[in-house]
Amino acid sequence: MAVRFRLGSYTPVEGDPLGRSSVGFFPRMTEEEAWKAGRGCWKMSAEKLPRVRFALVVAEGAVRAVAEVTDFTAHGDRVALEGSLLGAGHPMYDAYIGQPDPVDNGSMNPVGYVALPEEQQFLMRACACGCGATSERDFLPGHETRAIMDRVREHFDGNPLKFVQWIDNTLASAAIVSGRQPS
Ligand SMILES: [Zn+2]
Repeated sequence: MAVRFRLGSYTPVEGDPLGRSSVGFFPRMTEEEAWKAGRGCWKMSAEKLPRVRFALVVAEGAVRAVAEVTDFTAHGDRVALEGSLLGAGHPMYDAYIGQPDPVDNGSMNPVGYVALPEEQQFLMRACACGCGATSERDFLPGHETRAIMDRVREHFDGNPLKFVQWIDNTLASAAIVSGRQPS
């Protein structure tokens, strides 16, 4: 899930919990400045906050910064996100920087949540070996071997050669069934 923060207009502030001298948008602000202005402090959904992986800072209708969220800090009933700015070559950056606000729900709330297609590949999911851990990929490093060897133990007497021969034979049979020559 991604969150979008919409910046208001430039306003000098005093006593800012993030130590800033101003908040809001000003013309020609850099992506770094947009992230600094946009990462806090907001009222965010306690349920959605832990699921937010990317943040987009929007001002005057266009995305000004795209960041990957790594953590957050609480400031009273508001939070500020910690994260790193993304740059060219990252799918989230390439898809949204400079583009129109992807949260187009008509709400005046500057904080909007959205599931974006480009972030799906980065979302944590259960490791497919069944270990119970989560991973950004199908398997944690090395766990694909664990998943395969579990099956070799369970179905092939722990003998990898039997497993390989079974795959080869199965594919050859499938090729015959489908009318193709086994390679
Ligand atoms: Zn695993």
